[in-house]
Amino acid sequence: MSSNLSRPLVTAPAETAVLALLLAEGPLSRVELARRTGLSSTAVTKAARPLIDDGYLYELPPERTAPGAGRPVNPLAVVPDREFFVGVKISIDQVFGAVCDLRAGIRATAVRPLDACTPEAAAALVGELVDELLDADPAFRDGTRHLGVAMNGDVDRDSGTVRRSGLLGWRDVPLADLLTAATGLAVTVENDVRALTVAEHWFGEGVGTGYFALVTIGSGIGSALVVNGRLLTGAYGVAGEVGHICVDPAGPRCRCGAHGCVEAIASTDAILADVRDLTANPDLTLDEVVGLARDGRPAARERFARAGHAIGVGIATLVNVIGPERVVVSGEAVDAYDLLGRPIQDAYAAHAFGAASRCPLSLRPLPWEDWARGGAAVAIQALFPQDAPTAAAITVG
Ligand SMILES: [Zn+2]
Repeated sequence: MSSNLSRPLVTAPAETAVLALLLAEGPLSRVELARRTGLSSTAVTKAARPLIDDGYLYELPPERTAPGAGRPVNPLAVVPDREFFVGVKISIDQVFGAVCDLRAGIRATAVRPLDACTPEAAAALVGELVDELLDADPAFRDGTRHLGVAMNGDVDRDSGTVRRSGLLGWRDVPLADLLTAATGLAVTVENDVRALTVAEHWFGEGVGTGYFALVTIGSGIGSALVVNGRLLTGAYGVAGEVGHICVDPAGPRCRCGAHGCVEAIASTDAILADVRDLTANPDLTLDEVVGLARDGRPAARERFARAGHAIGVGIATLVNVIGPERVVVSGEAVDAYDLLGRPIQDAYAAHAFGAASRCPLSLRPLPWEDWARGGAAVAIQALFPQDAPTAAAITVG
């Protein structure tokens, strides 16, 4: 990608800290910004000045902090429309896209079927999808420089290469280069669960947390962790994989080759296969299995309970090791929350240790737009120097 396209907006630590806090938390006074960043008020004013001149920040009308308090203050706020970001999620048969503003608010969405799952076909389709999205409003076309792509697999974000995606059958694909050629935008590629975690940590339930975990449940069990304000990568690119925590050494064989992983017991594929076996009905769909469970059919109902138990134990293990302040559980299988929620919460409560058990676990569905928004959140990060801390981890002074 061209160096001009990818140049960060902020590089100085003070500017980085001020912009990150305002993006994540909304309007703050200079006094509050100084308190939170450890900078002096003068340094905050100096850091904000170029961002105000550039149209990224503005001063809200003066407000008094309390009746009779001294001089009124002008809080600083982000101008959400100053720049737009396209986020794309590539799945096995569809490409989802969203235009988001600076604070990751979704402004437009689009979706297209992906007929051939090759990198070239996907890149061409993303090119068309991005055009469609940017044509929705002239402000999008003029104000967008960055595209963020979220997809399954082992992704090297620095080089924009998909090292391996089992689901898509890709290996060593220079996706960022292909997509920059197709769109003219600066492209960041990230694993989809990690991108979703970035969105949630910067702009969702994880705002303000230094330690945070996100778990997705569906045809696979995915997870990503934030430790000390940063996404955890691990020395070998693998860390915090709750799907492959062993909860039953004598359990079924997992895709990874081990036995009794959370994913081998609790993925929707595993649930579906078992209930088909138990009911001797190989044609059952997942929706039908959910229906059987809701109707109280023991084979289906107990199978969901077992899956929920495995997920709860896996998350408790993760929580005991990392001690996050909050865990969000999401994914397509959360639609079956009525079947999974109770066993997940019960097993979690039974296995979380000591103070770690105070970490709240929230479950909620995951609309496809949120996957695309994850891509946009990763694109927003391109405004910052690589490895910049998030708002929660900021102290500069
Ligand atoms: Zn496994």
